[in-house]
Amino acid sequence: MTTEKNNNIMGTVYKVCIVISWLFVGFMVVLFFIGQFAFKHDFFDVGVSKALDIEWEYKTDDGQTGTCTVPCKLGTGLGVGVELRSILPTDIEDGMYLIIHAGRSQDIYIDGELRFTHDGSECELPGRIVKSERYPIRLSSSDSGKSIRIVKREKGVINGNVFEMRYGDLYALNRDFIDSNLIKFAMAIVLFLVAIVMCIANLIMNYNYKVYNPGLRYLGYGMLAIATWIITDSYLYQMVFDNAYIDGLLSFMIIPILPIPFIRYMNEVQEHRYEDLCVGAIAALIVDAITVAILHFTDILSYENTMMISNSIALLCALLLLAFIVLDGIRGYIRRYALIALGLTGLVVFAFLELVFINMHARAFNGIWLTIGIFFMLILSMTHSVRELLASEREKRTAIEANIVKTTFLANMSHEIRTPINSIMGMNEMILRENKDPDIAEYAEHIKRSGNLLLSIIGDVLDVTRIESGKLNIVNNPYNTAGFISDVVDIVYEHAAPKGLEVKLDIDEEMPAVLEGDQNHIKQILINLITNAGKYTNEGQISLRAYASDILMKGDQGTCNVIFEVSDTGIGIKEDNIGRLFDSFTRFDEKKNANVQGTGLGLTIVKSLAEAMNGEVSVSSTYGMGSTFRVVIPQRVISVNPIEDSWHLSHDRKDKKTRGPYRAAFVAPEADILAVDDNGSNLMIIKQLLKATKARVDQADTGNEAISLVSRKHYDVILLDHMMPDPDGVAVLNYIKTDPSGLNYKTPVIVLTANAVGGSRAEYINMGFDDYLSKPIDGITLEQILQRYIPKEKMDYSEVEETDTKEVKANDNEAKPKVFGDGEFKKIAKMFGDEDFAYEVIHKVAEDTLKQLDKMKSDLLVDRFDDYAINAHAIKGMMASVYYEPLRQRSMEHEKAAKEGRYDFIKEDFEDYSIKCREFCDKILS
Ligand code: ADP
Repeated sequence: MTTEKNNNIMGTVYKVCIVISWLFVGFMVVLFFIGQFAFKHDFFDVGVSKALDIEWEYKTDDGQTGTCTVPCKLGTGLGVGVELRSILPTDIEDGMYLIIHAGRSQDIYIDGELRFTHDGSECELPGRIVKSERYPIRLSSSDSGKSIRIVKREKGVINGNVFEMRYGDLYALNRDFIDSNLIKFAMAIVLFLVAIVMCIANLIMNYNYKVYNPGLRYLGYGMLAIATWIITDSYLYQMVFDNAYIDGLLSFMIIPILPIPFIRYMNEVQEHRYEDLCVGAIAALIVDAITVAILHFTDILSYENTMMISNSIALLCALLLLAFIVLDGIRGYIRRYALIALGLTGLVVFAFLELVFINMHARAFNGIWLTIGIFFMLILSMTHSVRELLASEREKRTAIEANIVKTTFLANMSHEIRTPINSIMGMNEMILRENKDPDIAEYAEHIKRSGNLLLSIIGDVLDVTRIESGKLNIVNNPYNTAGFISDVVDIVYEHAAPKGLEVKLDIDEEMPAVLEGDQNHIKQILINLITNAGKYTNEGQISLRAYASDILMKGDQGTCNVIFEVSDTGIGIKEDNIGRLFDSFTRFDEKKNANVQGTGLGLTIVKSLAEAMNGEVSVSSTYGMGSTFRVVIPQRVISVNPIEDSWHLSHDRKDKKTRGPYRAAFVAPEADILAVDDNGSNLMIIKQLLKATKARVDQADTGNEAISLVSRKHYDVILLDHMMPDPDGVAVLNYIKTDPSGLNYKTPVIVLTANAVGGSRAEYINMGFDDYLSKPIDGITLEQILQRYIPKEKMDYSEVEETDTKEVKANDNEAKPKVFGDGEFKKIAKMFGDEDFAYEVIHKVAEDTLKQLDKMKSDLLVDRFDDYAINAHAIKGMMASVYYEPLRQRSMEHEKAAKEGRYDFIKEDFEDYSIKCREFCDKILS
């Protein structure tokens, strides 16, 4: 509360401070203007600065004579010297200066005495002098009324030009000079800096952010050229820079190329509509630039002589751009860039004015008009660009919003479709089981195949939407590398089998034994790649290579990169297509692959998952020969011991499970395990599954019994059912984990649950369970989990031997319970490794189901829906453990309905549900 109040006060103080600081700045600006205009005063007597407006007699080397006043342009020929004579005014005082701005190489005599001489050709390149300079000559009162003679001896035509002559006190003369040149010079410097920033920003946007806006870059170049021209051409240049002579050439050299960036800019803005003419104009400008440069440097014609031509070509280009704008106006395109069109028109008008001044006026090199023009255009162009940027930002936001709507829609739709498909599949399963007609069975098999395909497509869509909406959770947990590899190897065999492809494995036995990462998502990546290898390969082989690199250990633990390479000898991918391979919904060779099912989402998912885990995926392929997909995922290393050939063991064991005698992964006769489940058949299954490991298994069928056992005896692992009547699994876990002095405080507790929904694993881990095992429990996963948690000293791998479990043979019909088809019973028997035991379990399930049904009935009589849900859950688990899908499905519906308060459904359906359950049990028990 107080913090909130404090925050409010601080916020208000902050705002007030900001307002005051702005007011302060405003006050300073007002003071400046008052100082400049209302209370204007000179601090001291700056002295005099007068124009020397005397009349001059001139005489040129080629015999012309006459009079003139400054400024003057005598139009002398190339290299023709000029002599000017006059009488100085009579008001000259000691310490005054005469400032002459007229060419560079000249001698100045006062009363016949040489007072100034300068030869500019000493500091220039070949060519003719083109630049005038401003020289100060010291005077004294005795110079008043004396004769003055100026001998100008340039090689160019500049001899005929005298731009300015003033006399007076140096301070006043300089102030005048600065006054008349500073604004333009400063504007040019600003323009120069803005142009540099614009060009750099544009390049950064181009290369770093892939935002491509060449128009703005050309505008930047254009501004840079104009700014350079104005700066090199300014009178102030000689006060700031060292060699105004050579640099002075730049201002002439820039003029022919000055329009090029503007033409390119307009070409972009006008979307290349007049490209041919633009190219023509640029070519003409380049030819002009090169030609006049050659003429100047070879001393044939100086820039002053060719200036008129260059300026005219530049002007023509400007008029051409205006013509394009007019044309666009007529064709209706102008609306797209009205501001730029206005800006450019303004620039051309100002440039025209500038050229007029350059060619007509004696004080030629001004540039102020062009500067105004370029600022005018810059402001309008910038406004246009900012507007466009805002509009594209708005479009982007709308597109993102639309994408969110699409993603949500797809996610909802896939989810909604999946529910009825599951029911269809369930019903179809019943048809397959109960039907005797072979035709119907064939139809139902079709439904099953297509249904599975549809489910996998919807699964892909759901995955993609989950990834796109950022709901992908990466859950990192330790896992056994050998077990993981063994699972992946199984997947390879599974996908190679249908087409009789060979399998090649290259598993590095140095891989760390225990890693931490999101094994489910890595597996999903590999499933997608292996599925593709199977789909797009008709003969040859599928290979899997797995190894770890960059292993960095700090003490016991560390990091590494796990690398998987899935290769095939299939159809391969064309080089052109590789770039688009990971895009959504992209499929190639559609004709060739017409009979290969797919959505084009598999690789998108692969890439997104790999990136979400900070990994990467790459591909190399030769069309017609095959492809290799390589996935690199960083993982934490929990145990760096090499896996050696343990993945084989685990893989062979699985192999044997389906083909021959069963072998346990380990033997742990000293290990104590507690299994807790309210469902007797589950306890039976666990006990049987662990028989081969020789571990000592205690059982508890209520939460209370579990509590009493854990308070008396230490266990190495506890397998704990979640859904039990009070106290449930979580309550038992809490009991175990609250007392640090308890015997089992540190014992790993593994939750058993039938809620096999993605994400529930993370929830259970959050609740405090150490791991998660989903029902129906399969022996291999159970062993893998125990391998992870039973203390190492109690594990024995050497004693692993074939157990007394029987090899599963094809069943004879008489022996199997009547409810199961041949295939199903075989599957159950395989899972339990023993036919007799499978019978036992199925019997127990039938007995327990009847008991649970009675309980549910009495729950229903007194509206005890919480217990009803728990009991329905128990039946669901039992049906799952004997793979009886129809009743698992229906029990799940009842459990869900009880939890969601849909009691009408329960009351309506219970009768039928319980008849079906009883029929199932009776068939088994009879
Ligand atoms: P799908 O297989 O569902 O079409 P994917 O995203 O998994 O979608 O793959 C996209 C496309 O990439 C496939 O349609 C196929 O053209 C090509 N492709 C993927 N894997 C392979 C492979 N191993 N060999 C040849 N082509 C492949």
